[in-house]
Parts: sequence; structure tokens; C-alpha cells
Amino acid sequence: MTTGKNPRRSNKRSRSGATSECLHCGKKLRGQKGARMHMINQHPEIMEAKKAGAQ
Ligand SMILES: [Zn+2]
Repeated sequence: MTTGKNPRRSNKRSRSGATSECLHCGKKLRGQKGARMHMINQHPEIMEAKKAGAQ
């Protein structure tokens, strides 16, 4: 048994709270709330367009 070293190195830190990337500007956002706030603040037109084309 060789349990001294871990062959796999976890480079990426995956903390709780998924980070999402804005599809429109590529900015990384924290959580859905952050993403939504970003959309409203940075891309209000897209939000409006979505609303308009909902029906
Ligand atoms: Zn954006």
C-alpha cells in the first residue's frame, strides 16, 4: 500500500458556489445572484430583449 503521495494534484479549487461566466462579456461571476445582478447592471438591453421576446 502506498498512500504517502497523492498522484492527483488538485490545481483547481472548487469551493461551494459555482462560478459562471457571462456569455456576453466573458466576466466571471459568482453564483446565480451575481450573474443576474451583472446582467441587469451591465447588459440591461439583453434583459429587456428577453422580456420582450418571452411571449
Ligand atoms: Zn457580462
